[in-house]
Amino acid sequence: MSLSPAAGQPGAGAPARAVTVVEVSPRDGLQNDPSDLPTAAKAELIARTAAAGLRRIEATSFVSPKAVPRMADAEDLVAQLRRRGDLEAVSLIGLVVNQRGVTRAAAAGVDEVNAVVIASDTFSLRNQGETTAASLAQLEDVVGAARAAGLGVSITIGAAFGCPFEGEVPLSRLVDVAGIAGRADPDEITLADTIGVAVPADVTARVTAIRAAVGPSTSLRAHFHNTRNTGMANVIAAVDAGVTALDASLGGIGGCPFAPAATGNIATEDLAYLLGRSDVTTGLSLTRLIASAAWLSEALGHPIPGMLSKAGDFPQRQARGRSRAPG
Ligand code: ZN
Repeated sequence: MSLSPAAGQPGAGAPARAVTVVEVSPRDGLQNDPSDLPTAAKAELIARTAAAGLRRIEATSFVSPKAVPRMADAEDLVAQLRRRGDLEAVSLIGLVVNQRGVTRAAAAGVDEVNAVVIASDTFSLRNQGETTAASLAQLEDVVGAARAAGLGVSITIGAAFGCPFEGEVPLSRLVDVAGIAGRADPDEITLADTIGVAVPADVTARVTAIRAAVGPSTSLRAHFHNTRNTGMANVIAAVDAGVTALDASLGGIGGCPFAPAATGNIATEDLAYLLGRSDVTTGLSLTRLIASAAWLSEALGHPIPGMLSKAGDFPQRQARGRSRAPG
């Protein structure tokens, strides 16, 4: 099946497919933004994305506050979120890199953890202080601890398309890493283009190979950056290759840490437009996303990279015949 209109059934009513968009602006976006939002503003960002239809939101990370000072308020933030009445339908995700992170995340009250391993040794050593193999060796315990706490669990493979230090990450290495990650039996494996180097042919090849390596019971998700303007093209290739969830960040916030002047995450509202016009259901309200992207730009005190909030929806909502979430 293809995202191209010819493969769909225009006018037939029900969209052909659905993709879950995972909002990562509160963690990946804010961690790499020059502004440092207070905890209450992070909670408002999360509530706004929930009101726009996001149902899985990566709220924070449970890592060393010395390494990532921006996320030092993880427990406070989740406590604030749990006191709200408007997030009951949302699965809150905490990023972890080890079992200690799972313990903290479970105690704080998230619904899911996202355990990160990095596909190249040099990047893994710099980011997590251990080799890829050493990270992989902990995954069964990490997944087991998450399951014991009743949490959903994803494993994200960072640098799945290229490494800022080693360059190319061979497909064979990625397949080996994903195979070991798959044997830890997570609900989902995410391929992350951490430095924004992938093109659609890479996406098709890697998603197809990982699908074969991990078997059908593990869902696949993708995390793209728009660093080299290939993010949205990669989305199309990923959905065509069978990915059922995609990460995105409101406003496209979150620079690529290895290319400080460059755009990072793909924008949630731009992704929602692309998928909606392609008859892929997301359940997202473009109107609310656009309004919240403008709010976020104001809160951060700088322009955002996302494009839809500048250009607007098309056609105007009142004139549209397509079904959309209210908003
Ligand atoms: Zn990212």
